[in-house]
Order: sequence, then structure tokens, then C-alpha cells
Amino acid sequence: MAFDLAKCDFSRCRGDCLVRCPYVSYGEEDAKQAMRTLIRGWEHPILKECITCAACNDFCPTGANPWDLIAKRQEETNALGIPVDAKPSSDWLTKPATVIRRGSPGGPLISAGGIFEVVPQAEFLSGQMFEDATIIGGGPYACGFTETHLGRASRPVTHLPQFIANLAKAAEEYGVDEIIFSHDACYDTATTLAMQQRIDVPFRPVHLLEYIRDWLRDHPERIVKPLGTSVAVQGGCTTRYAPRGGDREIWSDWLSEILEMIGVTSVEEKRTYTGENRLCCGCGIFHTEHERAVGIQEKNIHDAAAVGAEKLVFICPACIAVMRGSCKKLELEPIYITQLVKKALGEELGPAGTAAFGYPVK
Ligand code: SF4
Ligand code: SF4
Repeated sequence: MAFDLAKCDFSRCRGDCLVRCPYVSYGEEDAKQAMRTLIRGWEHPILKECITCAACNDFCPTGANPWDLIAKRQEETNALGIPVDAKPSSDWLTKPATVIRRGSPGGPLISAGGIFEVVPQAEFLSGQMFEDATIIGGGPYACGFTETHLGRASRPVTHLPQFIANLAKAAEEYGVDEIIFSHDACYDTATTLAMQQRIDVPFRPVHLLEYIRDWLRDHPERIVKPLGTSVAVQGGCTTRYAPRGGDREIWSDWLSEILEMIGVTSVEEKRTYTGENRLCCGCGIFHTEHERAVGIQEKNIHDAAAVGAEKLVFICPACIAVMRGSCKKLELEPIYITQLVKKALGEELGPAGTAAFGYPVK
């Protein structure tokens, strides 16, 4: 997660980073000029236009990580106009450590990170798959990645040693050698970012999808209601930081296997906005540019529905929290991944339902 100036070679690209950005309309020369301006340390309109989706890191053919330069300049110039003491974020990082649900001794340990109240994790992480699991959350276990949407992209990096130390202490306390992360951001911080920053991680980070995939592999007889439905998938911004398995982000293979096991067909291959071109949920601008965020969501939902999706599956708690309103309006059922799997296990979803509609989420 750092811009690599040596790799930003204008002779080897067509300004792909900003030409392909789905939220602005730049031609090749304008894109390159914008990047030159940012490299010189000057301000440029892209700093305000950018919705902090991280996609341009994927678009750059030379691996220069242009989003990391944009994020750096956004922080230096306060371009996003978000106050230094933006309340939601500082709340997440300062919230005390909490045991959201205590499981059985020796059971799995799940960290719901700092945004565990965005969706009701105690309910979403329930049922057979999680019956022995202890779920922890709060500031000490917050990776701080959300700060990238608030113009403070350096926070996950500066906070990283403490984040890992806090989790290592929790692993020791609960007697486990692996920690499952319910949010990609924490998983990617404990894997990709920790590797880049050469921080030793004394436990094995496990992605929620990997955990579910392994549980289903171990308990195939528990799948009593194959769902026979078609879904699209909302891959959030943080999923772009996942370690790669071959030419794909590793989580996409885990998800494909889960969907296949529970009898669900993905329509992603038929979509326009899929893979690298997937659209952001708009959470970075949801409060500051609400109409623009909703416009992006609606384009995304129409695209999924047009190719036959009956549901939109979410992996990220933040994505489902900000998109469920638009899904409801456009009649595409939003469903969090654990709730989808629980349906196939024949379990009740509880008052939170598929996406906590009408549920008093704090
Ligand atoms: S960041 Fe990548 S795509 Fe953008 S100008 Fe530099 S080399 Fe080209
Ligand atoms: S981070 Fe996303 S919105 Fe910002 S410039 Fe890159 S692709 Fe565009």
C-alpha cells in the first residue's frame, strides 16, 4: 500500500488508472497530467472527485498503486473535507475491547473488528457454523482501514503494529493459533499490509469466507436446503487488497466453492460491473455526496438484476449497511453471506433477517 514512483511509467500505459475509473471521465492525456500533478505534490481536482474505491490500483498495468498516491495527497490537503475528529471513525478506534458473544473453550475466535455495530454481527455470526465461536470486537481490534475513506489513509499503516499486537494478545488469551476476520479490511491488513510492512503476525489470519468454506466441506450433510437461486456479489473496496491466488483475489475462489456447495448460481460472469470493474458501494461519499452515492448503487443494482440476479450477496458489513436501502427500492434482495448459507442449512435467520431491514442497527 504505497505508490511506487519507479513503476509509474507513462510510456507503458494509457493513463488506465483514471481513464478506467468509473466515477470520472478522463481521457489518456488528462489522466497522465493528473498523475504528473500529484507526483509533483500539487493539488488536482481528482482528489475531490475520487470516491476512495481503490480500483485504480487494479487498473494500473505496471503495479504503481496510483490510489495510494491519491489517498496520500487527500490526507495532506484535507481534500475530502472531513473534519479531523470525524466522529464515527474515532468512535471505532477508541471503543473498548468487547466480547460480543462468548463461545465454548477451545472454539474458534472471530474478530468483528471496529465496525461490528454497523450490522448485527452477534446475529449474523450465529447458528451451527458459529455455535462454538467467541466473537470479539472494539477499538483494539479495529484495523483502521475505514480511515482511507475519511482522508486519513496513513492510519492503517501507523496503527498496524498495535493492531497485530492486540490480536496476538487475544489469541493467547483464548488459546487459539488462528483468528477469523469477519471483515476483509482486517484480514487484508493482517495479511497483505503486514507482509508489505514486514510485521510479524504470530497467528494465522483466516478470512470469514475461508472459514465458511472449510466448515461446509467438513459438514456437507448439514446442507439440507440447496437454494437453487441466482445471485450477484458485491465485492467491496477492501476485497481488492486480498492476497492473490493465481490471477484472482483469493476470496473469490472461496466464495465460488461456497455458492456451489449450497446450490447457488452466480451471475457475475454476465455482468458489466464485475471483477476489476466492479462498482463501489459508495460508502466513502454516502454522507457527503449522498445522491452521487445512490446513483452509483442504482447503476450497480440494475446491472445485477438485468442478468437475472435474484439476490445481491454481501461480504462486507459496510457495503450492506449503505446499499440495503437502494436494494430494497429496486427490489433486489440484499443478503449477507452468513445469512445466505444459514438458509441452506435450514436455519431461522432471526429478527435481523437477510440484511437487517427495519432492524434497529445502531
Ligand atoms: S499509475 Fe499506472 S496507469 Fe496511472 S499513469 Fe502511472 S503507470 Fe499509468
Ligand atoms: S480510487 Fe476509485 S474513485 Fe478514486 S481515482 Fe481510483 S478508481 Fe477512481
